[in-house]
Amino acid sequence: MMNDKTVAAISTPNAPGGIGIIRISGERALEVAGRIFRPVSGARLTESPGYRAYFGSAEYGGEKIDEAVCLVFRAPNSYTGEDVAEINVHGGLYITKQVLRAALEAGASPAGPGEFTKRAFLNGKRDLASAESVMSLISAGGKQAAAAALNTMDGRLSRQIAKCRDEITGVCASLSAWVDYPDEEIEEISTAQIKETFEKVKKELEEIIHRYDSGKAITQGIDTVIVGKPNVGKSAVMNMLSGYDRSIVTDIAGTTRDVVEERVMLGDIILNIADTAGMHDTENPVETIGVGLAQKRLERATLVLAVFDSSSSLTDEDRAVARKCRDKITVALLNKSDLPCRADREEIEREFKNVIEVSALTGEGFDTLRDTVADLLSTRDFDPGSACLTGERQRICCMDAVGYLAEGIAAVESGVTLDAVNVCADCAVNSLLELTGERATETVVNEIFSRFCVGK
Ligand code: GDP
Repeated sequence: MMNDKTVAAISTPNAPGGIGIIRISGERALEVAGRIFRPVSGARLTESPGYRAYFGSAEYGGEKIDEAVCLVFRAPNSYTGEDVAEINVHGGLYITKQVLRAALEAGASPAGPGEFTKRAFLNGKRDLASAESVMSLISAGGKQAAAAALNTMDGRLSRQIAKCRDEITGVCASLSAWVDYPDEEIEEISTAQIKETFEKVKKELEEIIHRYDSGKAITQGIDTVIVGKPNVGKSAVMNMLSGYDRSIVTDIAGTTRDVVEERVMLGDIILNIADTAGMHDTENPVETIGVGLAQKRLERATLVLAVFDSSSSLTDEDRAVARKCRDKITVALLNKSDLPCRADREEIEREFKNVIEVSALTGEGFDTLRDTVADLLSTRDFDPGSACLTGERQRICCMDAVGYLAEGIAAVESGVTLDAVNVCADCAVNSLLELTGERATETVVNEIFSRFCVGK
């Protein structure tokens, strides 16, 4: 399915860099590129056989903007499956924008978010699960997340889903034949066989879902909060985790008033972390807002880092913080381990299973924190080499399929007619087709790609 519109966008980040790339895709991509790029060799881009790089100049309004290299790809052997020209210029913001402007004036339309990848999907270059993993690969924060996304991009998940689908369809085909042509001599498929297949596929899908859930801290990140009374070193802990001075660290109690959200890496785990204002009672109206936000964030969080100042004795405020963490996966951080210890460690240990001495000043104890969190979230078993789901949409499709298979199994067990079983199987197959995109509606597809960045 070729898209008749030729589109262009800057595919490199919106920042100065060594190289800036303007990507043009569509039937008229080479014609548009030929109007704004002049190869020194005098070659005509429209006659290029593809897989070629040309050196020359990018031009706008007949004037040279920059030296450039133009890469030419011929349909279907390109990212989008269409003719593609990629003009590489020096990555200045002004220059890349001028080249894009020139491309638009030469007949291209601006590409929407994710339009190149969407075209790759529509032109059959990759299925929906694989296209979605492109975005996961771009936003991957660590080696494991990147490996998992790459695996899905290469089709590992889609292949396993297709296998599951084929197994259900195999059973359905025999079922349908038997239901539709009762008089023919078609070997009746035994209900035991149906049940066995459904159970096997259901188990496989459940494993995929489980892997996604347990690997979520690695691929998507988990909501985390840092709590503690003022001045225990929450901001300092946050800064140690993020590796740079993100929030203002001061000696005045209560300076961190807003909830600062940040994505930080703790080993291979992504923490979507909120540094909250001190969880303490206050009359100051600005602080009250901060404290309210902190409470909400705490309720939503999966992981809590409760910070205490080990250089002074514990107070009732500390005890109140500890109480608020009771139902959460919490690590208690006895901060300021570089100073003499005055806090009652045993009291903290009575409240928390995981207590670690750290110093946000020297970095001591943060390796232990990394290992403890990996154990708590059981991410050590995460295998990026297996088929991985790359987002909630895919998870929902998988869950739906599991639900329909469970209904199918129940139907077989209760001895209802095989037509009913067939319907369940059909629904399960549809959910899996939606996952890989063969049955996804246009709205779903548009929604998925609208979350991509322009230029991808
Ligand atoms: P918050 O109010 O809990 O966010 O606390 P801050 O991060 O603003 O820290 C309060 C004070 O404690 C600052 O003066 C920090 O420099 C100091 N501090 C934080 N962590 C440590 C640490 O590990 N060791 C020492 N010696 N001082 C620390």
